[in-house]
Amino acid sequence: MSITALMPVYPRCGVRPVRGEGCYLFSEDGTRYLDFAAGIAVNALGHGHPHLVKAIADQAATLMHVSNLYGSPQGEALAQRIVDNSFADTVFFTNSGAEAVECAIKTARRYHYANGNPERHKLITFQNAFHGRTLGAISATDQPKMRDGFEPLLPGFDYVPFNDLEGALARIDDETAGFLVETVQGEGGLMAATPEFLQGLRKACDEHGLLLVLDEVQCGYGRTGTFFAHEQYGVRPDIMSVAKGIGGGFPLGACLATEEAAKGMVFGTHGSTYGGNPLAMAAGQAVLDVMLEPGFLDHVKAMGERLRSALEQMIPNHDHLFEEVRGKGLMLGIKLKADAREFVAHLRDNHQLLTVSAGGNVVRVLPPLVIDERHIAEAVEKLSAGARTFVPVADD
Ligand SMILES: *Cc1c(COP(=O)(O)O)cnc(C)c1O
Repeated sequence: MSITALMPVYPRCGVRPVRGEGCYLFSEDGTRYLDFAAGIAVNALGHGHPHLVKAIADQAATLMHVSNLYGSPQGEALAQRIVDNSFADTVFFTNSGAEAVECAIKTARRYHYANGNPERHKLITFQNAFHGRTLGAISATDQPKMRDGFEPLLPGFDYVPFNDLEGALARIDDETAGFLVETVQGEGGLMAATPEFLQGLRKACDEHGLLLVLDEVQCGYGRTGTFFAHEQYGVRPDIMSVAKGIGGGFPLGACLATEEAAKGMVFGTHGSTYGGNPLAMAAGQAVLDVMLEPGFLDHVKAMGERLRSALEQMIPNHDHLFEEVRGKGLMLGIKLKADAREFVAHLRDNHQLLTVSAGGNVVRVLPPLVIDERHIAEAVEKLSAGARTFVPVADD
């Protein structure tokens, strides 16, 4: 037998974390890493945040799971808190981002079905999008590396270039249900939607009776300096998927919707055994206790500006390697003139800085939202040192 016990779908690197503390991770061999990957934008409060840890431990000892057959005081309370702080009127809890996207797709289709227009089932989506790995979610992206070998996929998606408003509007036909778009593309390379693009999609939705479905699984929950990224555009979605930061490391996701957009989601249309269980709700509440505390989002904004300007100042000193800084808040990317995976590995192995690659040549910088100036200084120092010592593998 040569297959590994752990299904070998990830090319895992040599770092084998066994403990975390704030913005640092400790590997099996004792090496300490500055964690500017944060579990891919998940560990919003860093590692071992005492309030989150205590909330999970207390709830585990009280009641971990029942079933959605029973009333859920825990689910009602967290849903209400999210509703009170967002565009949404209603929330469905999931265990992951892809499931939140699935629920968003189903909600959008059901809306038009409930309106007597079942033919309106197609979502216009965008090139280089990432919506997760379920069959529905890979159907919603045009990226062959995720789709190959899994066909036939779910019909009902059109793909147009990101930030191409004209192109998106030109694809609207009698079967269009709406648009599914990341406010800031994560895996695709840290591209933020332009205001004209997002505002134009909203306007088209209002004019044609379509739904604007935002995927804020990565960019939502404080990551860009506002609770949700779309708040910075003056645009309200009809439906939105969130996950990653929402549980601070506990597996949790959610699909948010307005009352109108959720009109088709009646008894029996959707479900999840684990979704919204008391343990997950306790984690979700603890994250919000911290994130909605006055000053928290201002801190993210301030740290985002500081980190961005520090990165921008670093570029001219290493312009053989660094091209530009992208993204918003603490969801930043450095576009390289080299392969990002190689540089990410170099930073990790030689400078003990953890980052993530995206879209081929972008290094994603996704620190915990609780970083302070010392972490920024340390990261910039490691990035500069890394740029000086990096020797790209010649691609001849
Ligand atoms: C990570 C991600 C997902 C998928 O989330 P999973 O928890 O891995 O299923 C979906 N959409 C976006 C924008 C993401 O970044």
